[in-house]
Amino acid sequence: MRKIVIAGNWKMFKTRSESEEFLRGFLPHLEETPSEREVVLCPPFTDLSVMSKYLHGSLIQLGAQNVHWEENGAYTGEIAASMLTEIGVRYVIVGHSERRQYFGETDATVNLRLKAAQKHGLIPILCVGETKQQRDAGETEKLIISQLEKDLVEVDQNNLVIAYEPIWAIGTGDTCEATEANRVIGLIRSQLTNPNVSIQYGGSVKPNNIDEIMAQPEIDGALVGGASLEADSFARIVNFQ
Ligand code: PGA
Repeated sequence: MRKIVIAGNWKMFKTRSESEEFLRGFLPHLEETPSEREVVLCPPFTDLSVMSKYLHGSLIQLGAQNVHWEENGAYTGEIAASMLTEIGVRYVIVGHSERRQYFGETDATVNLRLKAAQKHGLIPILCVGETKQQRDAGETEKLIISQLEKDLVEVDQNNLVIAYEPIWAIGTGDTCEATEANRVIGLIRSQLTNPNVSIQYGGSVKPNNIDEIMAQPEIDGALVGGASLEADSFARIVNFQ
């Protein structure tokens, strides 16, 4: 069975007190959320600890936005998987396009991070997706197949979520047509050995397009940036029709 996973990626937004304020507004809305939906919040590292106390016993899972592949060591500025699991983190975003674009993330380091996360029982959310230039050149399929091939070497497909995030749709308000997202996600699924991997769509998901996105047969959830920062808006998304 493919699980529905709706995750909020807060990127570099929200201080600790702002994250507490968000939860006060957001948690009451979850009473309407069907229990089989997995709701994940991925705040900055500095918010994880306090949020984990608030979320204890709630249906929300916590996710981080990155993880290093070594157990520990002289890696200034990095965070290890055991540091995340000890404070109750369950998911981790790996290979987001902003990390690939601005922080030198490659398919090789994505692969190392995926394996380290799984070794510690974290469920990685692997992000793949093409640039506008690649789409216009007709290279979307080739690029995605290549990312999956390299990123998933020796990765356990039983504990994995994939997010299809066309880079041109991220933070632009320019959503990929739901039927096109469905088509590419079908292609991603055809490359996997486990047909039950949950595959999300991400890129300008909003309260006014979530119903159409989730009505697509191949789409199992969403990775939501901007629209997850405000409690009412993210509540509308997790409570999609
Ligand atoms: P967006 O971001 O919803 O603001 O487009 C999505 C993401 O980058 O994960």
